[in-house]
Amino acid sequence: MNTIPIIENRIWQPEFECMPKEQLRALQLERLRGVVAHTARLPFYREKYQHLGITPDSIRSLDDIRRLPFTAKADLRDGYPLGFLAVPREQVARFQGTSGTTGKPTWVAYSKGDVENWANLCARFLVAGGLRPEHTVQISFGFGLFTGGFGLHYGIERVGAAIIPLSSGNSERQLMTMQDLRPEILICTPSYALKLMDTLLTGDVDRSSIALEHAHFGGEPWTESMREHIEGGLGIRCWNNYGLAEVQGPGVSGECAYRNGMHIQEDQFIFETVDPDTLEPLPDGEKGELVVTPLCREAFPVVRYRTRDIGVIYADGDCPCGRTSRRMSRIMGRTDDMLIIRGVNVFPSQVETALMRVKSVAPHYMIEVTRPGATDEVTVHIEVQPGIFSDSMREMQAIKADISAAVASITGLHMAINLVEPNTLERFEGKSRRVRDLRDLNG
Ligand code: ADP
Ligand code: ZN
Repeated sequence: MNTIPIIENRIWQPEFECMPKEQLRALQLERLRGVVAHTARLPFYREKYQHLGITPDSIRSLDDIRRLPFTAKADLRDGYPLGFLAVPREQVARFQGTSGTTGKPTWVAYSKGDVENWANLCARFLVAGGLRPEHTVQISFGFGLFTGGFGLHYGIERVGAAIIPLSSGNSERQLMTMQDLRPEILICTPSYALKLMDTLLTGDVDRSSIALEHAHFGGEPWTESMREHIEGGLGIRCWNNYGLAEVQGPGVSGECAYRNGMHIQEDQFIFETVDPDTLEPLPDGEKGELVVTPLCREAFPVVRYRTRDIGVIYADGDCPCGRTSRRMSRIMGRTDDMLIIRGVNVFPSQVETALMRVKSVAPHYMIEVTRPGATDEVTVHIEVQPGIFSDSMREMQAIKADISAAVASITGLHMAINLVEPNTLERFEGKSRRVRDLRDLNG
């Protein structure tokens, strides 16, 4: 465990973040009973609770959470648009949504109290990762239904810093703003930071003309090697935070100054890890699907929400920062973006880690999966660094061999490597899409 803080250790709401563990568990139990009472208003839960004999009083210990039903994305979709709205419509203060792949968004509602609360939860991880009232923050997350933009906006406002609500897109304007208004903090997806960094490093922007010190990334998986790459390239600190619209948005967990994983805001969320196939609970320290029960949501409460995100809740003890909550790993993939290639489970993040080990290639890649006959074929398209492409055939072959070996050693699979010229793969302003699965898996 890291014992040296990266920056000064500051805590936004120590009364909750550093609450003695026993008190924290007691608070969770009391709030969980409240969740059962509150969600019993919704037909979806009421019927299930009746069937299972669940009442608030029957929740005697935190382990009793396992008696509660799971909620899946499909349940929210079945209840479209507002089947999970648990307050009178006039008490809704905000709607946000998540895009989803099936056309209609999943709507999420917030009461005035939910919005207030959300701001504090975002303030917690922002302050832990360097935000001070005197700072200026450039938000390059999309403003709109996506929870990232507005969620962070109100968190920053709560801390008292200045906000540039720039939204995503237009790299030139992003860099101009960074130079002209000199924000110390940048908020975006890691893939967008990568794009901005490339524009900055290849253009004639002088690094000393921008004042960036920290960036807060969320919304999509990234790796430790990506962190090193961006921190090295921009000379800033990059912080990880996690959340999803269905249980709130950003602010569910985030890193502290020791960067030992992300502290889960346990006074407000109960996290479990389950085996995604059997739904059996897994002990801390084991990798599985994260299941989240928000404890304080008024307008849109869900119980045991299956995130489809794969991660680990750490079993090791206390963090030197003084927060008493458990910490979680990075998200290692999704149960649904996990590729199964010739029977082997592969996450795009594993391929990324392998690529980042090889010099001469840029961190822009696309994983393409096909099934020309009976077996799966994977091709990783990856950009080489500028200047490399014109060099000798032999050098290109050597780079390919290095990548291939790195990929095989991490994933256990042989993948074809296709080197492409710099700046030819798609760039992303929001969440990246790095997998193209062209197999017909229904046949
Ligand atoms: P959607 O992607 O369905 O529109 P959201 O916009 O709420 O929904 O995104 C939430 C999802 O984004 C999470 O379930 C997770 O897969 C991913 N995500 C968010 N933050 C992180 C993070 N720090 N690391 C990895 N993945 C993340
Ligand atoms: Zn900590």
